Amino acid sequence: EKRRILVCGGGNGAHCLSALAASKDNLDVHVLTLYQDEAERWAKHVENENMKLTITKQDGTQYDIFSKPSLITKDAAKAMSGVEIVFLVVPAFAHAQYFTAIAPHLQPNTLIVGLPGQAGFELQCRHIIGDKASSCTIAASESLPFACRIVEFGRHARILGLKDSLGMSALKGKACQLSFPVVETVQGILGEYPKLELLKNYIAINLMADANVHPPMMYGRWGNWDGKPLKEEPLFYQGVDDRQADLLSRVSEELLATAKAIEQKRKDVDMSEVIHLFDWYKIHYPDQITDKSSLKMAMRTNKAYDGLVHPMVKTDEGYVPNFNYRYTSEDVPFGMVVMKGIADLAGVPTPAMDEILAWGQQKLGKEYIVGSKLIGKDIGLARAPQSFGMTSVDELFDI
Ligand code: NAD
Repeated sequence: EKRRILVCGGGNGAHCLSALAASKDNLDVHVLTLYQDEAERWAKHVENENMKLTITKQDGTQYDIFSKPSLITKDAAKAMSGVEIVFLVVPAFAHAQYFTAIAPHLQPNTLIVGLPGQAGFELQCRHIIGDKASSCTIAASESLPFACRIVEFGRHARILGLKDSLGMSALKGKACQLSFPVVETVQGILGEYPKLELLKNYIAINLMADANVHPPMMYGRWGNWDGKPLKEEPLFYQGVDDRQADLLSRVSEELLATAKAIEQKRKDVDMSEVIHLFDWYKIHYPDQITDKSSLKMAMRTNKAYDGLVHPMVKTDEGYVPNFNYRYTSEDVPFGMVVMKGIADLAGVPTPAMDEILAWGQQKLGKEYIVGSKLIGKDIGLARAPQSFGMTSVDELFDI
């Protein structure tokens, strides 16, 4: 008997995951895409033929698979029929509308997976699906399992590379009884790579999201910018200076203090996955970093970051920073605001994050924070616990 899964989204990741999963004999794949006329266009393309997915394997060789979802629709009721696992494969700003669309049709013992989740995924999901959260499990991966692109919409997509390993957290509702194991089942859908690792708890992952790097890097570089366009795009990681490294380090310390404070309040919660950014680099890039003497030097000499530049817009006068790029547009409301909110619940002061957020929200034309408090008028548009009315650490864990 086939297990039915739903892939939400119509972008790069959604194309790849749905074709990949549909190629497995034991799976039946539905797709829900709510954006514009994507569902109609995609369904039309596969009416009489399969999709093609070109996969580059770990060893560099390529192969094609041909398959297609059995249903592609913008009708959530039809999409959700008989579904045991729901994957959301869209950027974080688009998550809310999918939670809202699937909520009325969610059956008990459904697994909801954010692929990737990004900070605040579980909190927003719980808020929108309400009481149903206690009979579901909400999982989230740290990133998309593959680097991928659509080649031709609805017809052909390409997996450019698979990660070796990928962390995933799972938050189980107290009344949820899945008939299958989370990690092994998702692994079976993805295939051999990336190897999924079950992480200890979702709050640790929220605190360790990439968003603890991008906003401090942006503020550190552009906080005192004189507004003059640049001749070249500055290097992002390899150009890190003392001011940026100091901000990154202070944010890391605030997150570590938050993890410790949570462990004190909740003896049943293991926050050991929250580590200092400097340690994180040393663990994740043991061979790529040539100078491990400081956080700054580790970032400057990490070969994995060769040539990566700041997000810039080209103008007639030169390059100017792009403050609407995801390093701020996503990593503030669905990143650092969430971390700040968790720190607040834990009772930990966060002067570094407050300073970065005050700058970042101004660049985005939003107000999340006022002084050191998350009481700005736009807090409801972010994904902090406070965006959803949560007031205690216990509420984070008791679902
Ligand atoms: P994408 O950019 O392809 O997503 C675009 C899709 O999102 C659209 O097709 C549509 O379905 C939906 N969408 C876009 N605008 C929308 C709107 N205004 N309202 C509602 N829906 C809208 O995304 P992706 O490349 O599949 O990536 C998904 C996530 O994974 C992102 O968070 C991305 O940062 C992350 N990621 C992607 C890659 C990659 O290689 N593609 C790698 C690592 C991480």
